[in-house]
Amino acid sequence: MRVAFLGLGIMGRPMAANLVKKGHAVTVWNRSTGKTVDGARTAGSPKEAVANAEVVWICVSDTAAVEQVLFGEDGVADGIKPGTIVVDSSTIAPAATVRFAERLKKQGAEFVDAPVTGSKIGAENGTLIFIAGGREETLEKVRPLFEAMGKQFVRMGDVGKGEAAKLAMNLQIALIYEGFAEALVLARKLGVDQKALFTLIQSSMVRSGVVDYKMPFVEKEDFSANFPLRLMHKDIRLTLEAAREAGIELPGLATVKQVYDRADKAGLSDMDYAVTLSVLASD
Ligand code: NAP
Repeated sequence: MRVAFLGLGIMGRPMAANLVKKGHAVTVWNRSTGKTVDGARTAGSPKEAVANAEVVWICVSDTAAVEQVLFGEDGVADGIKPGTIVVDSSTIAPAATVRFAERLKKQGAEFVDAPVTGSKIGAENGTLIFIAGGREETLEKVRPLFEAMGKQFVRMGDVGKGEAAKLAMNLQIALIYEGFAEALVLARKLGVDQKALFTLIQSSMVRSGVVDYKMPFVEKEDFSANFPLRLMHKDIRLTLEAAREAGIELPGLATVKQVYDRADKAGLSDMDYAVTLSVLASD
């Protein structure tokens, strides 16, 4: 398929590379210049990138960035043709997603939200899970692209429901990792051997995918970004905002947010969110 891929960050670049590997004709664009993908054409603007595309795939940081890419100067909306499918893999606000879809519909384009889970390793290995919102028929049309970049896509409902489910997923990831980090800090203070604790966790019901992913990095104290803290912090804010709109409270997540606020103040935002462990350990 002819795909315009917009946003070549930690996730977008390997995702676009996997599309190229599977034989799709890919044109890439990134806000700051110099980021490219072997085998893909590079465009100077979203407008230029989408001119000949059947599918536009977006993976940028947040709601404001998606709005800029879609509707800013020389954005997607300036160049898109009726019938084009726009898929957004960024994690953004569900309510804004619905608004963006309505605006694009007026131009005859269809919008799908398909945020991902699987992080940097999942993007590199083509094993992401797409959490999709949109019409079944539209999702089927882009199935070959889901399959080039991931191992599964799950339809959560209409447009916006992918983002809503993604926030519910990251809520759990933030809380699970916080539980792991607090347990580790406590156990260390109480003189427990870290290696023995890891063995115990891995052989018990406490084991989880989140801990499986993060444990090797924690062991090496390698907090370089797989999922930057600033992005998890953004997702926590989005989740609390969605909860407020829905008229519910999330007291656990509201408390975890305080740890992220402290990490941000300590200048750790560009490191992996696993670095929250060192914020706790520094108390
Ligand atoms: P990243 O490495 O920080 O990359 C962000 C991308 O967004 C860059 O290409 C950046 O362009 C672009 N961008 C930021 N603001 C923009 C704007 N105003 N206009 C146009 N482009 C803009 O982030 P990432 O890790 O790839 O994450 C991308 C999305 O996937 C986020 O929504 C994140 O929450 C989600 N996600 C990430 C992970 C993960 O583990 N990393 C996992 C699941 C979901 P520049 O290069 O010019 O800065």
